[in-house]
Amino acid sequence: MSDPFDPRDLQVIFLREMHEARVRARDALGRAGRDAGDPAAVRELRNFFHRLAGSAGTVGHGMLARLAGACELAADQELERKGPLSKIAIRIFAEGLGGVDDILETRTPALGVLIPVLQPETGGPRVSLEDVPSRVLVIDDDLVTARATEGVLRAAGFLTASCSDPADAYEAILRESPDLIILDVLLGDIDGFDVCRRVRANPALQLVPIIFVTRRGDVEERVRGLQVGGNDYVAKPFDAPELVARVRSHLSRLSALREMAIRDGLTRCYNHKYFKMRLEQEMVRARRYGSALSLGLLDVDHFKRVNDTHGHPSGDAVLAHLASLLIASVRSSDIVARYGGEEFAFVLVEAGAQEAAIVAERMRARVEAHEFEVAGATSLRATASIGLAEAQQQDSPAALVQRADAALYQAKAQGRNRVRISTP
Ligand code: GH3
Ligand code: MG
Ligand code: MG
Repeated sequence: MSDPFDPRDLQVIFLREMHEARVRARDALGRAGRDAGDPAAVRELRNFFHRLAGSAGTVGHGMLARLAGACELAADQELERKGPLSKIAIRIFAEGLGGVDDILETRTPALGVLIPVLQPETGGPRVSLEDVPSRVLVIDDDLVTARATEGVLRAAGFLTASCSDPADAYEAILRESPDLIILDVLLGDIDGFDVCRRVRANPALQLVPIIFVTRRGDVEERVRGLQVGGNDYVAKPFDAPELVARVRSHLSRLSALREMAIRDGLTRCYNHKYFKMRLEQEMVRARRYGSALSLGLLDVDHFKRVNDTHGHPSGDAVLAHLASLLIASVRSSDIVARYGGEEFAFVLVEAGAQEAAIVAERMRARVEAHEFEVAGATSLRATASIGLAEAQQQDSPAALVQRADAALYQAKAQGRNRVRISTP
C-alpha cells in the first residue's frame, strides 16, 4: 500500500480506464437514442462525463475536463426534464463523445502539471497521533482520481488505501479502519451520501472525519454532504494543497478529540478506562518479551482533611498539581492515570520491583516536599502512600492491581507517607 507513487502510472490507468469507459458510454448513447430517453442510459452517460470531468482535470487534461463538464451539465438538464430525450441532447452527447476521442487521440496531456504536487513536502510536520502517520481511505469509483488522490496524500506523509468498487465501500471502511475518509459523492449507481449515512449509523465510526468530493460549485451537494454527517468537502478536480490542508486540519481536530476521550478532565493524566486498556496491553507485551513491569497505586493521605480545611476547589487544585509531579517523576513510556478520586495508578514498563521502588520513593518525596499553591492559602502540604507490585509470569491485570492495592493498604496501616512493595 505504501509503494512509491509514480504519476506516470496515473496516465496509464487513465487511458486504460478511458478506453473501456468510452465503449460503455457509446453503448449507453445508443440505448438512450433508441429507447427515447431511457433514464438509466442517460444517467450512465451523466456518470461517464462526471467521472471524466474529474479524472481529466486530475491528469492535466483541462480541455477534456471542460468538455466533459459541459456534457455532464446537459445530461443533468435532460434528467431533470424527465421527458423523452431531446434531439439536441443526443447530438451534444454524440459530439461530446466524438470530441473525447479526438482529444485523447491527438493530444498528450501535460503531465508536468501533476508532478510538482506529488513531490514529498520537506520539513513539514506529519499529522499524527503519537507519531504514527494517519491512514486515509479514498473512496472513488474512478480509479484515476482515487490513485491521484492517494499520490497527493502519500507525498504529504500519510498512509493511504483506496476503494474503487462502490459496492465494497462500506466493507472497505470496516476493513481499513481509516483515520479519515475521502468520499466521492457520485459512486456510479451508489450514492456517497448513503455510504456516509451508514458510517454515521455505526457507533464505532462516529468520529472518523469524512471529506466529500463534490462537483465544483454544486452547493446542493455540499449541503447534503453536511446534512448526512460529512465534515467537509472539496471540489473536483481538486486543488492538491487545499486537499492536504483540509485533511490535516480534520486529523488534528480528531487527535484532540481522541486525547480528550482518554484523559481525565481535572488532572490531564490518563483516565481509568485508558489505564485498564494500557495495563492489559503492557502486561501482554512484557510477557511476550520477558521484560519486567511494575504497577504502583498512590493514594493521598487524609485528603478529606484538605477538602474540609481548604474547600473542595483547593482539593481539586492539589490533585491537579500532584498529577504533574507524578508525571514528571516517570519516563515518557510509563503510564500515569487517575485511578479514581484521590488515587492514582502508574505502570512502569521495563522496571522490576527495585527500580519501581526508586521511582515511587522519588514520587513520595516530591509530594511531601511540594508547597501546593491554592487560592486563599499560601502553601498547603500533602503526603501520599504508595503500594507497588511487580508483575509475575502468571499475573492477570486484576491480580496485579490487587497486590499493589494490598501493599498500599499496608503503607496506610503502617503510618502513611511511605512506599510498600508487595512480596509475591
Ligand atoms: P486516607 O489517608 O485513609 O486515604 O484518608 P483520606 O481522607 O484520603 O481517605 P478517604 O478515602 O476517606 O477520602 C478521600 C476523599 O477524597 C473523599 C473525597 O471527597 C475526596 N475526593 C475524591 N475525589 C475528589 C476530587 O475530585 N476532588 C476533591 N476535591 N476531592 C475529592
Ligand atoms: Mg482513597
Ligand atoms: Mg486518601
